[in-house]
Amino acid sequence: MPEPGRNNHGAAPAGSGSLLVHACCAPCSTVALERLRVQWRLGFFFYGPNIHPAAEYRQRLEEMRRFCNAEGVQLLEGEYRPADWGRAILPWRHLPEGSRRCQECFRLRLRRTAEEARRRNFDAFGVTLTVSRHKNSRLVIETGRQVEAESGVPFVDVDLKKQAGFERSLQLSRQWGFYRQQYCGCSLSRSEGLARRRRRAGA
Ligand code: SF4
Repeated sequence: MPEPGRNNHGAAPAGSGSLLVHACCAPCSTVALERLRVQWRLGFFFYGPNIHPAAEYRQRLEEMRRFCNAEGVQLLEGEYRPADWGRAILPWRHLPEGSRRCQECFRLRLRRTAEEARRRNFDAFGVTLTVSRHKNSRLVIETGRQVEAESGVPFVDVDLKKQAGFERSLQLSRQWGFYRQQYCGCSLSRSEGLARRRRRAGA
């Protein structure tokens, strides 16, 4: 029998009670809601100090509000302070996407989510970050466990990419007609994505 919140596979974990899930876009939240609501009373926490520019942040937040309103799911909104993200990743800014830079970005967002979960009396916290095929689920889960250890708030370590979770999020997003972003979120990933697309176009 797994411990509450522990399973590390694609299915919803053995758990019950209330779960606060970090979200930074509606597309990835679709599959998180579908899989996790089976066993948890779920709320989302939209927190994205990494998202650049502010217009992009507002667009993602608006889609998240539309989704949660229609689904009748609680949506909590964090503060938008890009300088917090800048400080958190500063020593690793020169590293590429997927590196320690991203781990520290995950840590900032997960720490804040665990704090909010405790403040609002949720039993555990989780993330939608494992949905995307551009994210290393192992790194996300490792970071979540570290935040659990330091905060004492249980982390639900489900890998939502498994069992074709990413493909399911694409399908659901099309049904909803969601805006789908072209880059992860920060200014660095925006430039990196642009450079990738230019290279492909020139190849
Ligand atoms: S690429 Fe994504 S995860 Fe990495 S630092 Fe930028 S916003 Fe954060």
